[in-house]
Amino acid sequence: MNAPDTFSHLQPDVSLRPVPPALLAALQARFGVQYSAAPAVREQHGRDEGSLQAPPPAAVVFAHSTQDVQDAVQLASQYAVPVIPYGAGSSLEGHLLAVQGGISLDVSRMNQVLRMDAEDLTVTVQPGITRKALNDAIKDTGLFFPIDPGADASIGGMTATRASGTNAVRYGTMRENVLALEVVTASGAVIRTGTRAKKSSAGYDLTRLLVGSEGTLGVITEVTVRLYPLPEAVSAAICSFPSIEAAVRTTIQTIQLGVPIARCELLDANSVRMVNVHSKLNLREEPLLLMEFHGSPASVKEQAETVQEMVSEFGGTAFEWASTPEERTRLWTARHNAYFAAVQSRPGCQVITTDACVPISRLADCLLDSVTEADASGIPYFLVGHVGDGNFHFGYLLDPTLPQERVAAEQLNHQLVARALALGGTCTGEHGVGIHKMGFLLDEAGEGAVAMMRAIKQALDPQNILNPGKIFAA
Ligand SMILES: Cc1cc2nc3c(=O)[nH]c(=O)nc-3n(C[C@H](O)[C@H](O)[C@H](O)COP(=O)(O)OP(=O)(O)OC[C@H]3O[C@@H](n4cnc5c(N)ncnc54)[C@H](O)[C@@H]3O)c2cc1C
Repeated sequence: MNAPDTFSHLQPDVSLRPVPPALLAALQARFGVQYSAAPAVREQHGRDEGSLQAPPPAAVVFAHSTQDVQDAVQLASQYAVPVIPYGAGSSLEGHLLAVQGGISLDVSRMNQVLRMDAEDLTVTVQPGITRKALNDAIKDTGLFFPIDPGADASIGGMTATRASGTNAVRYGTMRENVLALEVVTASGAVIRTGTRAKKSSAGYDLTRLLVGSEGTLGVITEVTVRLYPLPEAVSAAICSFPSIEAAVRTTIQTIQLGVPIARCELLDANSVRMVNVHSKLNLREEPLLLMEFHGSPASVKEQAETVQEMVSEFGGTAFEWASTPEERTRLWTARHNAYFAAVQSRPGCQVITTDACVPISRLADCLLDSVTEADASGIPYFLVGHVGDGNFHFGYLLDPTLPQERVAAEQLNHQLVARALALGGTCTGEHGVGIHKMGFLLDEAGEGAVAMMRAIKQALDPQNILNPGKIFAA
């Protein structure tokens, strides 16, 4: 394991490249009120929801169109200055930090639905639309877009981080759901990848290359994604367990039996306590699984009965239903707010979030030892997981005035990732590498694969201007 690399990112390497005043003047002249060098705007764009810090970008450009993105990138390219695409700012691994200086290119105002193809179950959107706004915009079509990271992230940002969420166990991640892209390259050219067709064998799969590229290979200006019919019947269940192990073993068996469960989320007792306070709920303060079943009324009933049997087998004590849409929304909103509930439980804390994901048969091995280690550390933490996917997050709640807590949390994360990799898993199931997981990427992918990634980056962005210093040191 690359422990020294990992711990060196307690704070990122900052190596600022010059931003010539002539570039800033040219951007201001071209973009007018869409340009800002105000300190508060720069500060807001120079950080994400993670705990790493760096000086802010020199300026922010708010793009309204693909042409705006092209012009901004072309000007930056002329001066070899970094450009950091910005969506909703909810990433967690230092993705947005201007570690080599440069400008932030905010695409959140590019937030329109461009083309709805209900009959093909696809929609094409601008990158700044958020997942909730997209679902609002299409709510009368009987279709929905299922991918739901806890934050109301932008579709462009979700594409760039290969995001997923609570529904991925049934509907997949951004990898499976992005069909086509429009992208502005590092030289300012506009290219298209993929089509609206369900499949294609036409050459290199550039769409897959760009999904998860974290703003380092191009600025995404259009995204075509798959949609799904709203299920005929939906029902959600809350099951409490005597131990995390019982909840995890129920999950493993559910997946191994092929139950097409739509959501299967673990909350440990700490999370439940925090969520109860934050969302004014009365959930039993024990490890629990929140589950959701989608399908015809008969199939939902059948799925629920099968799972209920397993819950009983593993000592689950309650199988309560949330069947009205209002109850379900309340429950899932509380789940999505678990991170904020945890932050509120230790005022002023910083959070380090882990993101390991392992093959489902190894989930108990990976997760339970990590719980033992987290308990022994004495650091306040919460544990939530998209466990149906083998993906789970510890959130260590750190007192920023106690640097030893930070070191201990990084050590826990390191042990957890080592365990996940040894079990055939990954250091990041959905958050991406950013800065924080660069050392782990080397451990996971190996030097040869990282060298290939670097070669792709160099070929597509020879001046290294697109979000430099992310995924691998450069
Ligand atoms: C409370 C909370 C819960 C979360 N839960 C989940 C979860 O369940 N699942 C999950 O996957 N993630 C989760 N996340 C992480 C985060 O929401 C995702 O990583 C999300 O996909 C980031 O989208 P964004 O629009 O905020 O992107 P940003 O944070 O703005 O950017 C993220 C990265 O994408 C790049 N980027 C943004 N837009 C573009 C573009 N148009 N073109 C090219 N590159 C671009 C940026 O340069 C950056 O590298 C959570 C975060 C929080 C705070």
